Amino acid sequence: MNIQHNIQLQHYNSFRTKALTKLFCEPLTPEELSEIVKAFPGEKKLILGAGFNLFFTEDYDGLIIRPAMKGINILSETDSEVVLEAGAAEDWDTFVEYAVSKGFAGLENLSLIPGSVGASPVQNIGAYGTEVKDSIIHVNAVDIRSGEITIFTNEECLFAYRDSIFKRNCRYIITSVIFRLSKSFTYKEKYIDLSRELEGVPSPTLLQVREAIIRIRTRKLPDYTVLPNAGSFFKNPLLTKEEKEMLQHKLVDLPVYNVGEERFKTSAAFLIEKAGYKGRRRGMVGTYEHHSLIIVNYGTDNGKEIADFMREIQNEVSQQFEVMLEPEVWIF
Ligand SMILES: Cc1cc2nc3c(=O)[nH]c(=O)nc-3n(C[C@H](O)[C@H](O)[C@H](O)COP(=O)(O)OP(=O)(O)OC[C@H]3O[C@@H](n4cnc5c(N)ncnc54)[C@H](O)[C@@H]3O)c2cc1C
Repeated sequence: MNIQHNIQLQHYNSFRTKALTKLFCEPLTPEELSEIVKAFPGEKKLILGAGFNLFFTEDYDGLIIRPAMKGINILSETDSEVVLEAGAAEDWDTFVEYAVSKGFAGLENLSLIPGSVGASPVQNIGAYGTEVKDSIIHVNAVDIRSGEITIFTNEECLFAYRDSIFKRNCRYIITSVIFRLSKSFTYKEKYIDLSRELEGVPSPTLLQVREAIIRIRTRKLPDYTVLPNAGSFFKNPLLTKEEKEMLQHKLVDLPVYNVGEERFKTSAAFLIEKAGYKGRRRGMVGTYEHHSLIIVNYGTDNGKEIADFMREIQNEVSQQFEVMLEPEVWIF
């Protein structure tokens, strides 16, 4: 059991904010992880993946657990599909690249999402009309309270839009994820921007879809190695019918998507832009000039500055439009 002390977390979060953690470990197997959990019953604990969806505003007075289980293995296959297990510490996009190179379909629309395989079920990562939940059969995890090794079926994961049981209770440390992918692929339009990018390609292959997504994302999103960020900072708000109608009085061009059961999703980026915050900068923090939903770090190592700017945006949007934006990013 290798436990380290007073570790600097600046290079473990994509916003590059500084903070020390009292204790830090990178268990290589579920059994080692289980032992560690049992050895530190009174210590508060935090699970860390590749750090692309969180940042620190202060030192962490507890144990940070960074699962280090690696490996991609085919568990079974038929003529039409394959079942694969990927370790929590595998890089997400390397896994997608591997699947595409083998002709396994299902994850290609999730190309270039930064992060680890272990974090992918936590917020049910999604992009271009696809969510990871549709390819997951089950998730292997360790209970952070008891150290017990547990399996969650897809239904037990309680997946929803950017949500799952793992996000709701932060109690289970994911050690590996089991995916079912298809061996055949026919392109179906799920997202108009993607179809536009593929215009002129008669029947796109898996690789052509992946490459199109990489091109779109590279054009649209800031490079986190140059402008540290955590991707979309806020979730797209869900509105009731009444809330939607009230908002449409103020904003006639409000984009709305019916998500069923009299609920409507609108665009957080649109509201931030209308509140006057696209490309707005406060000190060393600001929204990205080409995408108002992304907060970027122009040179601070103090996470409090990012959190203050987030609250400023929330207050402004709330005052102008009576919508409270909820962060998608975790703040510690
Ligand atoms: C430029 C950019 C673009 C992005 N685009 C998208 C996008 O298109 N779609 C999308 O959905 N997200 C997107 N994100 C967000 C991010 O990529 C995902 O949330 C990703 O899953 C984070 O993985 P991670 O390993 O870095 O997790 P971390 O940031 O380390 O952790 C995120 C959360 O998951 C928990 N966690 C991490 N690992 C585990 C584990 N093994 N077991 C249990 N809990 C765990 C952490 O405690 C934390 O609460 C983007 C981020 C960036 C920087």
